[in-house]
Amino acid sequence: MVKDLSNFQIQYIKGVGPKRSSLLSRLGIKTVKDALYYLPYRYEDRSNIKKISDLIYGNMETVSGKVVSAEVKKLPGRNLKIFELLVNDGSSLLKGKWFNQPFMKKNFKIGQEVLLCGVVKRNPYWGIGFEMDNPEYEIMTDDDSLVHTNRIVPVYRVTSGLSVRQIRSIMFNIINTCIKDVHDTTPAEILERNALPGLRESIANIHFPDTSADVELLNRGTSNFHRRLSFDEFFMLEIGLAVIKRNRVLEKGISFSPKGAILDRFIEILPFKLTKAQERVFSDILKDMKSHYPMNRLIQGDVGCGKTIIALMAMLVAAECKYQSALMAPTEILAEQHFINIYRVMEDSGLKICLLTGSGKDKPLNKIASGEIDIVVGTHAIIQEGVIFKNLGLIVIDEQHRFGVMQRALLRKKADNPDVLVMTATPIPRTLALTLYSDLDYSVIDELPPGRRPVKTLLFNSGHKDQIYNIIREEVKKGRQIYVVYPLIEESEKTDLRSAITGKNAFERLFPEFKVVLLHGRIKAGDREEIMASFKRGEIDILVSTTVIEVGVDVPNATLMLIIHAERFGLSQLHQLRGRIGRGSHNSCCILLAYEPYGDEARKRLDIMVKSSDGFRIAEEDLNIRGPGEFFGTRQSGMPDLMIANIVRDATLLNEARLEAFNLIDRDPDLKGFPPLRKSLETFWEGKIELFKTG
Ligand code: ADP
Ligand code: MG
Repeated sequence: MVKDLSNFQIQYIKGVGPKRSSLLSRLGIKTVKDALYYLPYRYEDRSNIKKISDLIYGNMETVSGKVVSAEVKKLPGRNLKIFELLVNDGSSLLKGKWFNQPFMKKNFKIGQEVLLCGVVKRNPYWGIGFEMDNPEYEIMTDDDSLVHTNRIVPVYRVTSGLSVRQIRSIMFNIINTCIKDVHDTTPAEILERNALPGLRESIANIHFPDTSADVELLNRGTSNFHRRLSFDEFFMLEIGLAVIKRNRVLEKGISFSPKGAILDRFIEILPFKLTKAQERVFSDILKDMKSHYPMNRLIQGDVGCGKTIIALMAMLVAAECKYQSALMAPTEILAEQHFINIYRVMEDSGLKICLLTGSGKDKPLNKIASGEIDIVVGTHAIIQEGVIFKNLGLIVIDEQHRFGVMQRALLRKKADNPDVLVMTATPIPRTLALTLYSDLDYSVIDELPPGRRPVKTLLFNSGHKDQIYNIIREEVKKGRQIYVVYPLIEESEKTDLRSAITGKNAFERLFPEFKVVLLHGRIKAGDREEIMASFKRGEIDILVSTTVIEVGVDVPNATLMLIIHAERFGLSQLHQLRGRIGRGSHNSCCILLAYEPYGDEARKRLDIMVKSSDGFRIAEEDLNIRGPGEFFGTRQSGMPDLMIANIVRDATLLNEARLEAFNLIDRDPDLKGFPPLRKSLETFWEGKIELFKTG
């Protein structure tokens, strides 16, 4: 009989029992299947145990010998206890030292056979002998020559009460007795096409590799056997997304049939010509809107490439066809800015536009319900329960990875399958787009409007403020305007960061001859608007603000941005901020002022900002620095966790898995020919989304 390993409780494995099984469950291991997927986090090559006399200083080495002495020593004059273990292997002696862990002593007995692994050092006083500080150790018994030594040995994360040896023995036992019950659900032809080994072989080899295996690849998690398991995860993820996408296309959506009058008039009054890229992307959108299935399209493009106009044009198409549309931004401030911008260009159109945010008073709910309002601009408040549309036809989401695949699915239920357009506020790397947004269709605006000048970016530390002040003075004298951006509105006790309020006072003192004004999110919306308008009219020389100016603000005469505490900002935020300048015909410059000390990651971020102005490149680097963890396994993403695969490290594999997955769903949408695969998929996506309608 075939055993279902995901229902096989670990407690019934020989050598486990109730006590150990409760310890194992702390590591997330409840069933045999959990155990098989509890992978070593590193490997030690013990196929090569050295004679102590042959050790090389500075190398990571493994030795095995008998305990000669085990003593706790006190350093005279210092409050430090050192546990010292002296080991003899017949060739020489080696001393293992553990600092401030006197309790270690009780683990060892004279004459015991032990294995030590660590970096080889000389005695610090005499410069001779062999020592290891805090080595990994194992106490050997007679019968374990196969599992714990003479091989490449897996090292697992442990929990107190359960040693790495105990876990290793349990794993050895499980692999030997249960691997035959592992069943490969990935179609054989797909494995063959992608040169991937079988599942049993892969799991067995990841836990107990062959002596011939490459330890470095194993440690990086990129051995062929690791690749196989990573492929499976990607494959499951992408099949899920392919099914979600297919289910959507099968549904009936609105088929818009605009005559084009409103849109034509709008394009006529636009003070510029659309770029080729904008035209191409808009025609993608128009095609979706006219088709009978619900649109679900992602628009990517760098800061300033002109996404908002395209979104607005789509909303005009909806309005002309007597449908309402909604534009949803991630924050209230962004929503306000979109509202202001759209209101400005639409004033004479006769269309009704309103703002809807969580904190806004006088919510125009009745007018939305009656259909009097054509375009609603707001935050997530738009999709809250109390908000009822008469006939919502189009939803535009302006977002920064804040909307997951599930929320998008829910959104379509808000009305009768409205069209959905997702705009990323900053570009996201291709690998992320492939995973987080595989269920969407995809268009890129890969061109900036003509006449944009590259922005020069300079990095200063706080010792060079005078130089910065001189640059500011020169620039204002030339008639240009300046943004100064602070991370905080007000000083706080929790941090020693400089703030906009004190900054504004400082700049006023420094430049009494210039007009300095403060702008931040706690200033009333109406006043904020007035300040921005006044800045735009050129009445303000230096605008001291927080990141409220991050998006949407457009003042071509502003040519210099000074970012205070640049080391504290994230890359995409810095890129967004910098996108506020370089919008006119003058040369622009962004000055990053960083306060030391700051860490390596901050240094990398600042370096990239100085070197590159390409949003896509910056996004890739951001992902490399931060790692994909930020995006997966969060409630926001709504995606299943990736336990083994890593979209940065395994990007090529992801692409292969995606092609295979979409291909398979094309050929066999319900996976009728692959019942076991279908079952694994349901488990993988459990609690997230129901892929296949039951029955
Ligand atoms: P994004 O949202 O992509 O960052 P926006 O839609 O805010 O960019 O557009 C940035 C600025 O460029 C706006 O002032 C907009 O009016 C302007 N703009 C958009 N398209 C064009 C174009 N084809 N030619 C010139 N300016 C444009
Ligand atoms: Mg925009």
